[in-house]
Amino acid sequence: MGTIFDDVLAANVTYSASYQLAGLAAGAAKNLAVLTCMDSRIDPLRMLGLQPGDAKILRNAGARVTDDVLRTLVLASFLLGVDRAMIVAHTSCRMATDGEEDVHDAIREAGGPDTRSIPFLTTGDQEDSLRADVQRVRSWPYLGNVTVGGFVLDLKSGLLHQVS
Ligand SMILES: [Zn+2]
Repeated sequence: MGTIFDDVLAANVTYSASYQLAGLAAGAAKNLAVLTCMDSRIDPLRMLGLQPGDAKILRNAGARVTDDVLRTLVLASFLLGVDRAMIVAHTSCRMATDGEEDVHDAIREAGGPDTRSIPFLTTGDQEDSLRADVQRVRSWPYLGNVTVGGFVLDLKSGLLHQVS
């Protein structure tokens, strides 16, 4: 029976045939957590020279520090060896180029429902929001000793620059 997932499930069988990660520990080998955007142009492991097992990767729209990100970082900090965290926003992020109303309108125009009860956490000043998000993590009292940095990934060059 064919399904809409056939292509990726076939690829998974190929992946499994040469799978070598069964022995990896659950902790982050490089003591690193990376929060970045869900944007499919971002390759969070390769852009930092990482392999599976090296880092905890958290993703959402806009790489924003939400309650769920903070919850996850508490676990990463105390149970999974994380003592440094990078928040990585990126150029050409729709969450920084569009405002809240633009996103709500776009969803309506795409046939979606009225989403005005959902804060999409867009920003009119990406670097300012990044600094505020970094500060929110730094001041979160439930974290262990975690050093936090804020960065913007340039999707044209692949280079990061540090903002905070
Ligand atoms: Zn984005």
